[in-house]
Amino acid sequence: MTYDILIIGTGISGLYCALNIDKSKKVLLITKSKKEYSNSYLAQGGVSVLKDSKDLNLFIEDTLKAGHYKNNKESVKTLALESRQAIENLISLGVRFEKNENGLIYTKEGAHSTNRIVYHKDITGKEITDTLLDRVSLSSNITLLENTKCVDLLTSNNSCIGAIIEKNNETEKIYSEFTVLATGGIGGLFKNSTNQNSITGDGLSLALKHNIILKDMNYIQIHPTALYSKDLNKRRFLISESLRGEGAILINSKGERFINELLPRDIVSNAIFKEMNKTKKDYVYLKADFLSEEFLKNRFPNIVKACLDEGYNILKEPIKVSPAQHYFMGGISVDLFGRTSMDNLFSCGETACTGVHGQNRLASNSLLEALVFSKRIANFINSSRGAFIYNNYNFKASTPIDKSKVIDLLKREADFLDDSIFKY
Ligand SMILES: Cc1cc2nc3c(=O)[nH]c(=O)nc-3n(C[C@H](O)[C@H](O)[C@H](O)COP(=O)(O)OP(=O)(O)OC[C@H]3O[C@@H](n4cnc5c(N)ncnc54)[C@H](O)[C@@H]3O)c2cc1C
Repeated sequence: MTYDILIIGTGISGLYCALNIDKSKKVLLITKSKKEYSNSYLAQGGVSVLKDSKDLNLFIEDTLKAGHYKNNKESVKTLALESRQAIENLISLGVRFEKNENGLIYTKEGAHSTNRIVYHKDITGKEITDTLLDRVSLSSNITLLENTKCVDLLTSNNSCIGAIIEKNNETEKIYSEFTVLATGGIGGLFKNSTNQNSITGDGLSLALKHNIILKDMNYIQIHPTALYSKDLNKRRFLISESLRGEGAILINSKGERFINELLPRDIVSNAIFKEMNKTKKDYVYLKADFLSEEFLKNRFPNIVKACLDEGYNILKEPIKVSPAQHYFMGGISVDLFGRTSMDNLFSCGETACTGVHGQNRLASNSLLEALVFSKRIANFINSSRGAFIYNNYNFKASTPIDKSKVIDLLKREADFLDDSIFKY
């Protein structure tokens, strides 16, 4: 099969990239599982956005400070400057961010100096993904294939010319002028993560295999507040930071507060680990029962229900939480147009490293990064002269994606990781 553009991944970065490609170009979008089975679908809190031009310096400073100033400043500036347009585009596509008579409502999360996050209840990711999937289904130039896994890239002289896909145990070559890796993060490799199990760093494995440059492989984010569960085989349910943004507090088993809940995630997670060590418990508590029941039920319906399903009534009692792997700031090294070190191969979303997050991502900047940089890839491709399409390339037999290579690299780069925390 031959396409103008092959996009691997149906999270927000893959979908938004596809929708921004010129309608005259034939796009193939693939996902290894069902189309909704992505981390994007799970996102709760919202999307950061520049409220007005007065907020520019502060938004940039908040992002740099959370990232311990290890961020790429150009990427951060681009993120902030193009954020407003991304949100306006989503609204024009049909995304229903919360509004009142004055316009959009902005909420707050940790390490943001001001309220600048737009959201839809506590299911922002589902709202955006569903809207984008609807739009994709109406786009005659886009074909979406589910349960179709990319198992290798087709390359020639450091140029990507497509990929090998596997569907129903059969492999097939897809030739494309441009290929976009939007395969998400690494959480599925960990026993203890908020991510979908199937998000297993496949883009990174492919990059490793083809000597594509990776960056910041030790920058792994641990979220402070996943709902505590004894069952380690289950995905950990995230208790969104926006709950703390709306006033919920962290307490230890004696009912004492031990940290400012709105500091950056890495600092709050470390404080929780220390408290867990001190109290010899596997969890601390998150207390929201002093907020009104009506507010909690309206603002966080999904969280209230998920807690009840686990046997906790967040409306009436503190709930048990502990940190869990959540996000990967490193990834395939890309420039401001999503270009990787291989010609005609682009990458966006969590699998790419634009350097925007530095060492620690500021809450709600991930969906924004996915939107801003996937659109930049689409714009770049739209204005590029088509690359040469190979249609009978004699590729070597491909080997299956090797998760252990990525795990080995993560362990080598991040000295706080050991075998016990990985699934494979
Ligand atoms: C519980 C939770 C809550 C979150 N809340 C927020 C939030 O409120 N705000 C925020 O900004 N961020 C949030 N995040 C982070 C954010 O959701 C993700 O970083 C972002 O959605 C990643 O989007 P993506 O498009 O890069 O990847 P994903 O949405 O993870 O999609 C990856 C896609 O790649 C496909 N894929 C992977 N490997 C292959 C392969 N080999 N072949 C074919 N397809 C493949 C997958 O099937 C999937 O379709 C949250 C994350 C989680 C887990």
